[in-house]
Amino acid sequence: MQRRTGDLKLIQELNRSIILNMIREHGPISRSEIAKKNKISPTTVTAAVNEFIREGLVSEVGTGKSSGGRKPILIRFNPDGGFLISVSVTNSAIKVAELNLQAAIRKKDLFPVHDVKGDELIEFTLRSIEEFIGRLSDLTKCVGISITAPGIVDAAKGVIRYNSKLDLINVPAKTLFESRFGLKTYLDNDVNAMVLAEKKYGKSIHSTNLVYVTIDEGLGTGILVNGSIFRGHHGGAGELGHTSISPDGIPCECGNNGCLENYVHWPAIRSKIEQQVNIGYPSLIRDLLEQEQTPLTPQMFKTAIKQGDPLATSIMEEVASYLSIGIANVINLFNPETVILGGVIAEDNPQLINQIQTAVSKRALHILTEGLEIRTSSFAEDADLIGAAAVLLQDLFQFSLHA
Ligand SMILES: [Zn+2]
Repeated sequence: MQRRTGDLKLIQELNRSIILNMIREHGPISRSEIAKKNKISPTTVTAAVNEFIREGLVSEVGTGKSSGGRKPILIRFNPDGGFLISVSVTNSAIKVAELNLQAAIRKKDLFPVHDVKGDELIEFTLRSIEEFIGRLSDLTKCVGISITAPGIVDAAKGVIRYNSKLDLINVPAKTLFESRFGLKTYLDNDVNAMVLAEKKYGKSIHSTNLVYVTIDEGLGTGILVNGSIFRGHHGGAGELGHTSISPDGIPCECGNNGCLENYVHWPAIRSKIEQQVNIGYPSLIRDLLEQEQTPLTPQMFKTAIKQGDPLATSIMEEVASYLSIGIANVINLFNPETVILGGVIAEDNPQLINQIQTAVSKRALHILTEGLEIRTSSFAEDADLIGAAAVLLQDLFQFSLHA
């Protein structure tokens, strides 16, 4: 009996999602049309729609054309009828934001992380969310929390399996966050979430094969194959950063030598710049450091590239050349129609994108580069937060990536 009640509840929830999604995608729409299109009984539709109106998720907007009898009342989706909390765990900060049900950011906050790892980092994340939520007046319309983190993530179980930089091993994040806040919580890898955001809300709505590479404190990759996120056996597919590009190269924290990440991520770029500046190599970056009196930032590196600074340009060319090897390999393996380059090093860095486009077109199989688009992300620095929202909204609306 228990089981049957469970099944019934599941069907009701599924019907609710289908009806809400139909209104979202095809509204304004009448109750009878929803019933007809989804082969759901008119009574079920009416009950669900009444519930949505009460919850503020939909509203009635005038009448449609009559097909004989009374003119039907049309229903429209209210993206601001509810909200969600997106959380992005990164190496340098915990980003928390409130988004509406169309993944538009309403409020966001950044909590800088200073040398905190493992359990302490999780506790810091929980406290950051607590602080953010504390400033919201009302949580009754909150549909849940969605978290993204770099590294290997088991999205189905809600567990961060492995992130050596942040010392997160087998962290049951979903359970921890749900018990702390009493809100349904989702978890996914950061770049997989960004792929979802591009596919549902960005410029890649029509893509079915896409590779998304982020260059930040690390190198992250998400892969869309035949319209689905390619996750692999452990949820760890797309570790482009740990593919080898040099047999006896730089030792990597993963235990291997010569992993791509160590040649292109921000710490590598920073140490190269510092080395050269310290030995007196003339560079605009030296002036920027003196002017701003802060530690070296990716922004300074990008400013110097834009101004044609020889040091910044030569380091950028080296980074582009290594990245192109990795990206050409991924193109040859997955034959995507789009490659998106995101993260702080690639955003607002047209010179780097141009270099990669040129190098990749020489390296990858020519036929696979025909019509290939290499571009930056649709959401720039908010890609992770919108990505987290897309993960939750995909479940809320039960939308399929193939739709
Ligand atoms: Zn490695």
